[in-house]
Amino acid sequence: MNTWIEVPNNTDFSIYNLPFGIFSKKGVSKRVGVAIGNKVIDLLACNKLNIFTDLNIDNSVFENRFLNDFINLGKHKTNKVREILQKQLTDETSKFKVHNDLIFSMFEVEMHMPVNVGDYTDFYSSMEHASNIGSMFRDPDNPLLPNWRHLPVGYHGRASSIIVSGVDINRPKGQIKPVDSENPIFSSSKRIDFELEMGYIIGKNSKLGSSISTKDAEDYIFGKVLFNDWSARDIQKWEYVPLGPFLGKSFASSISPWVVTIEALKPFKVQGPVQYPEVLDYLKFDGLKNYDINLSVSISPGDSEIETVICKSNFKYMYWNMSQQIAHHTVNGCNLNTGDMMASGTISGKSKDSYGSMLELSWGGKKDIILDGGYSRTFVEDFDTIFMRGYCLKNDIRVGFGEVKTKLLPSI
Ligand code: MN
Repeated sequence: MNTWIEVPNNTDFSIYNLPFGIFSKKGVSKRVGVAIGNKVIDLLACNKLNIFTDLNIDNSVFENRFLNDFINLGKHKTNKVREILQKQLTDETSKFKVHNDLIFSMFEVEMHMPVNVGDYTDFYSSMEHASNIGSMFRDPDNPLLPNWRHLPVGYHGRASSIIVSGVDINRPKGQIKPVDSENPIFSSSKRIDFELEMGYIIGKNSKLGSSISTKDAEDYIFGKVLFNDWSARDIQKWEYVPLGPFLGKSFASSISPWVVTIEALKPFKVQGPVQYPEVLDYLKFDGLKNYDINLSVSISPGDSEIETVICKSNFKYMYWNMSQQIAHHTVNGCNLNTGDMMASGTISGKSKDSYGSMLELSWGGKKDIILDGGYSRTFVEDFDTIFMRGYCLKNDIRVGFGEVKTKLLPSI
């Protein structure tokens, strides 16, 4: 496929991608947009031109603060919208060409939270990550807890503090128990970390009391984003027993603004790791359920423009796939809603440069992570910016996620 729009070489937003997001521009209300190259297509303006004519979509679906109403139209309509746009953008005689109020430069728009997140669940589905944490804090000879290979472990996170790329965060404060002290102190966290994860957005409601099979699970996924699950390791360490993560996690999670549809990711499906021992029937699945998505994390120290890549990982390493996560999440009758966010858990690989958190890269703060320009880090420092990026590439077809970028500011 070729588009008549000029797109940079190696753009994440190729004609094969067409991700959805919410943008605004001076003098223009928040609305649904689609990214192509360095351009944003205004879907409200498209709808007013009757581009999506047979779909009968109300303008209010596109002139909207969130994608939820659009996603609720269902895949039969949202996929059709993508197909129609793909056709217009590859058709040299498209009427898009004569309407210069349809397409904006990405540099003149502001991106916003793409969805109104109802509920947020974070999994713990990378075996390498769970093993690294288990080795550090429990037993290197037996790092995984007994349940880990039998179910995708997860916890219910906080939806209100999920923020979009570009929003700065402040260093959280809380209870910390220093190793040499009997009692906790109140302090700014000294161990701020990122977690390289991918999030997915639920695309349709399921019924309370019913469960979703691994076979149907992907019908419930609208699309994916990059996900930085900010973590305060010292707060987490003191608070997490016995009910799991709480304030060490809930201060912020950052996501990339463009939602890449699960349909655009289809060409990049691959086999996942072998699961042993055999899983229970409701977690069994047929076909390819993992995705080959190259991921990276970079850090830019506060007083520097220099960015150093400190982690290169891949979403295909995940032990538990999204279909298994959804099947497990709903097996007790828990319902899912459009706009719910599921995150993968930190995505680490086998090699030391593929670890998806500073806790692992610095091995509990014991080892310096060397950055370009003479800098080093064990955890994130004030004014550092963390970038996460991701893309799929196969036979010259590139489908990417852009980036999620967040700066850590001092405590208030
Ligand atoms: Mn996490």
